[in-house]
Amino acid sequence: MQGAMQSHPLLISNLLVHAERHHGDQEVVSRRVEGDLHRQTFRDLAQRSRQMAQAMQALGVGFGQRVGTLAWNGYRHMELYYAVSGLGAVLHTLNPRLHADQLVWIADHAEDEVLCFDLTFLPLVEAVANRVKTVKHFVVMTDRAHMPVTDKIPNLLCYEDLLAAQDGRLSWPSFDENTASSLCYTSGTTGHPKGVLYSHRSTVLHSYAAALPDGLQCSAADTVLPVVPMFHVNAWGLPYVACMVGAKLVFPGPFLDGKSLHELFEAEGVTLSAGVPTVWQGLLAYAEANGLHFSTMRRTIIGGSACPPAMMSAFQDRYQVAVLHAWGMTEISPLGTACALKSKHLALGPAERMQVQAKQGRAVFGVDMKIVGEDGAELPWDGQTSGELLVRGPWIVGRYFKGESSPLVDGWFPTGDVATIDADGYMQITDRSKDVIKSGGEWIGSIDLENIAMAHPAVAAAACIAARHAKWDERPLLVVVRKADVALTREELLAFYDGKIAKWWTPDDVVFVDQLPLGATGKVLKHRLRDQYADHLLAAA
Ligand code: AMP
Repeated sequence: MQGAMQSHPLLISNLLVHAERHHGDQEVVSRRVEGDLHRQTFRDLAQRSRQMAQAMQALGVGFGQRVGTLAWNGYRHMELYYAVSGLGAVLHTLNPRLHADQLVWIADHAEDEVLCFDLTFLPLVEAVANRVKTVKHFVVMTDRAHMPVTDKIPNLLCYEDLLAAQDGRLSWPSFDENTASSLCYTSGTTGHPKGVLYSHRSTVLHSYAAALPDGLQCSAADTVLPVVPMFHVNAWGLPYVACMVGAKLVFPGPFLDGKSLHELFEAEGVTLSAGVPTVWQGLLAYAEANGLHFSTMRRTIIGGSACPPAMMSAFQDRYQVAVLHAWGMTEISPLGTACALKSKHLALGPAERMQVQAKQGRAVFGVDMKIVGEDGAELPWDGQTSGELLVRGPWIVGRYFKGESSPLVDGWFPTGDVATIDADGYMQITDRSKDVIKSGGEWIGSIDLENIAMAHPAVAAAACIAARHAKWDERPLLVVVRKADVALTREELLAFYDGKIAKWWTPDDVVFVDQLPLGATGKVLKHRLRDQYADHLLAAA
C-alpha cells in the first residue's frame, strides 16, 4: 500500500519562493568587484532571479542546457544560481583559478552555451573566448557604466541590461526533481577533470541535511558569510541553505585577505562562516597581529583539507569561535561528515575534546559510509584500523557527466581517502589512497605528521610525502616552509616529534623550501612534491 501524502518535486526554485515569502526582508550583502558594498533583500533576489531567468530564455537557453559562470561570491552569482537552475537549465560554475587551457577543455566538455563572468576575469575570458567551441553569448556581470571595451570577445552582453529588459513576471516551471541543476568539475589531480552533475532532488536534500544542528547549524537568526567560493561545490551548499532557513547572507567578493574578511565579519554581524584552512590562517594572523577579536562570530566550518588542531584551538580558546571540522568532496555535494560532539563528550576536558574535534566527524543522515581493506572486505569501527573510505547516499555521485563507466563499487563511491571510524561513528582521515605512506607494510598518517609540524612555532607550512626507501619501501619525508626570520634546523623539528607519535613514525628527513606548490583550490599539490622529492631518501643513502 502506498502512502497517501501529496507528492511535490523537490525543486531549487521552491527554496527561493520560500525565502521571498517568509524572509522577504532578509538581506543579501555583497562586496562587489567594483569595491563598494551592495545590499538587497531576498525579495529583490527573487525578483531579479526571475528577470534573469527570462533573460536566459531570451538568449535561447533551454531545458538541460549549460550556462557557465566565472564569478566570485556575490549577489549576481546567487541570482544565476536560481535563475538558471529554476528554468531546468544547468548552472556550470567554472573555477577561475584554473589554467586557461583547462578552462577551455572543461567549457567544451560541458558544452556551455552562455558564459557569465565578473569583471575581474575579463583577461581570462579574452584569452579563451575564441577557443571555447559552444559558447554563443558572453555576459559581463556588471552594469552599463562598468562595461569594458574589448574586441577580443564576440557578443559581449551586459548583465544589468539583460535584466532590465525583463519584467520578472515568470512562474517557475515544475518538472521531475531528478532533473540536472548544476555542474561542477573536480580539481582532478590525474587525467582530465570530471564533471559532477547535481540534481534538484540531491541539492534540496543536501540542504536539509547541511542546515541541521550537528551540520552547518544554520538558522534564520544567522548571518552567514561563505568564504568557500561559489565555484567550489556550490559554496558547500550555503546559497541554498540560506534561502531554506532565511539566514542573512554576506558575500566577500574577491576580497579574501584577513583584513577585508575581519572588517566584513564585524560590520555585518556575521555569526557563521565556512572555508578551507588556508583562508583562516590569513584571518587568524591578521587578528593576532592587530589584537582584534570577533564580536559576533560564534561558529566556523573548516574543511576541504584537514584542520590543524592548532588552528582549532586558536579559534576556540583565543577567540571563543566554535570550530566545526567537516569533510566532503565535490562528488558528495559536498557534505559527508561533520564533527559535532555528542552529549557524552560534553564533560570531557579541553584536551580530550580536541581529540574528538580533530576528527572529520560523523556521517550526516543521508550519507552511509564504510571502510574497506585492500580485498574490499569491510573493516571494524575501532578507531584504529584504517582502510579506504566508501560512501553512498542520495547526494553522492552515481556517474560522472558523460562518464562511460561507473565509478561505483557495488553501489558505493570510493573516495580515495583512507580513514578510521571509531565506535561512536567518528571518521578520521588518516591519508589518501593516492597519497599514502606505507612503511614496511604499515600505514603512517601523513596528516598527523603535518599537524605536528604545523604546531611548531617556527613552521609556516608543511607537507609530508611518501619517499622511496631501500628497506621499508616508503618512509615519510617532510617538506617545510619556515616562518620569516625564524631559525629552525632539521634536528630541532624532528626532536619536536618525540613523545607525540610512535617513534617509527618520525619523518626520516626534512627539506626546507620557500613555498609549497598549491592547486587551484588552495590545496598542497602532493603529487608535485612527490615528483620532486620521491627519491630524496635514496639519494641521501
Ligand atoms: P574536493 O572534491 O576538491 O572538495 O576534495 C575532496 C577531498 O578533499 C577529499 O576526498 C579529501 O581528500 C579532502 N578533504 C576534504 N575535507 C577534508 C578534511 N576535513 N580533512 C581532510 N581532508 C579533507
